[in-house]
Amino acid sequence: MTVHFPFDNSYAALPADFFTRVAPTPVTRPRLIKLNRPLALELGLDPDRLDSPEGADILAGQRIPEGADPIAMAYAGHQFGQFVPQLGDGRAILLGEVIDKNGVRRDIQLKGSGPTPYSRRGDGRAALGPVLREYIVSEAMAALGIPTTRSLAAVITGETVARETLLPGAVLTRVATSHIRVGTFQFFAARRNQDAVKALADHVIARHYPNAANTKQPYLALLQEVIRRQAELVARWLLVGFIHGVMNTDNCSVAGETIDYGPCAFMDGYDPAKVFSSIDQTGRYAYGNQPRIALWNLTRLAECLVPLISDDQDAAIADAEAALGEFSERFGKAYDAGLRAKLGLFTAQPGDREMIGDLLGAMTEQQADFTLTFRGLSDLAGNAETDSVRGLFADPTAFDLWLARWQQRIAAEPQDAATRKAAMQAVNPAFIPRNHRIQAVIEAAVERDDFAPFEELLAVLAHPFQDQPDFARYALPPQPHEQVLQTFCGT
Ligand code: AMP
Ligand code: MG
Repeated sequence: MTVHFPFDNSYAALPADFFTRVAPTPVTRPRLIKLNRPLALELGLDPDRLDSPEGADILAGQRIPEGADPIAMAYAGHQFGQFVPQLGDGRAILLGEVIDKNGVRRDIQLKGSGPTPYSRRGDGRAALGPVLREYIVSEAMAALGIPTTRSLAAVITGETVARETLLPGAVLTRVATSHIRVGTFQFFAARRNQDAVKALADHVIARHYPNAANTKQPYLALLQEVIRRQAELVARWLLVGFIHGVMNTDNCSVAGETIDYGPCAFMDGYDPAKVFSSIDQTGRYAYGNQPRIALWNLTRLAECLVPLISDDQDAAIADAEAALGEFSERFGKAYDAGLRAKLGLFTAQPGDREMIGDLLGAMTEQQADFTLTFRGLSDLAGNAETDSVRGLFADPTAFDLWLARWQQRIAAEPQDAATRKAAMQAVNPAFIPRNHRIQAVIEAAVERDDFAPFEELLAVLAHPFQDQPDFARYALPPQPHEQVLQTFCGT
């Protein structure tokens, strides 16, 4: 019985300087700890065959499946604002691409599969903790309906990796509509290799934005499309309280998926200045800064594309600036519409913005739990008792005043309470991957080889919008002693 991957590789057909052919490094004793069966089916893979010693070998990089063409992709990037001309897949290897059941091309990549020519001083490996974190958060994002890379499998390698301490090693199989980043464009632009920038842009248009090819200015259309996707993506992040944590240009997907779950976190108490990442000393990637940073990253992409947009440089710059100028409007529209939906407003009325701003202001002041506040308001829309939400505010005075305004505002709309509650529950999750829960899962796995908490958390997060009374404890914010104050990069 062999595991069949229906590979159809396109990136490996691009010019030689786009990547390096490199095989994963074998490991000692691979053990499959998680297989995402529904995702396997979506990709045209047989989950029963993958769930086998041979499958574990493949997912650990021991054995190369037929049709794979393993490569490490080259890219550059701005890290915390500093340009690094040579990054690339230092601990990831793209096995190849498959066309999924919906006709979408998907990358299948092993992360933590050994060194590559782009590893610099790194060991090319991943520790179990960050692999579990990425698995949990990426799948939770998918269940929340937010564009994201996916996790197909996690394998323990049977080896240790040296970080601050010795930790169990693991490999994550990551699936993406592509792994092309803003930093991929920067890699070639920084080398003044215009032919390569053009070949990459043509590849991205064909793969992600085929409609751009039919416009008068395909490369401008490409830029506009990436801007739209990123604007909408970041709005979606804010609407669930997600903090990416390391929005470097090499972690910014041109396909508009959330990628690279390192020091990411969902916030508990609402605070626009919230930062979790231990390396983000200045708050560059704070929750509320994310739209600004996305635009900064997109400006770096625009710089790469300017020479392609028009032979007339002034005209090209004007076009690129106009495209970047649309970011704020796009973001604002998506964010405002999302907030209105979170508050159960079926129409837009003058004064809504101010009302929403006042709620967020009160939440910030009282550090009210972001997720519970909106989920609680959904219940209030269905005429539940107000106490559950009031209790989230240390001093509920401002909330009480606000609540009366909101209740008056929704009463002026024709929808009945049950309709509004259902609509609100469909956009306000009860369950998010809270940091302290992820931490507990990692501890159980690393210290006790116990993956039951991991499975249970995944099962709860697969249905974030459903009340799951048996698992109500997963909806709760951390107790003071459970609070996770900092998160760390997965390196
Ligand atoms: P990240 O912070 O995960 O976005 O990674 C930034 C860069 O460092 C990328 O080029 C990674 O491939 C590389 N990198 C991160 N961790 C390792 C590692 N353990 N070994 C080799 N390269 C790594
Ligand atoms: Mg990265």
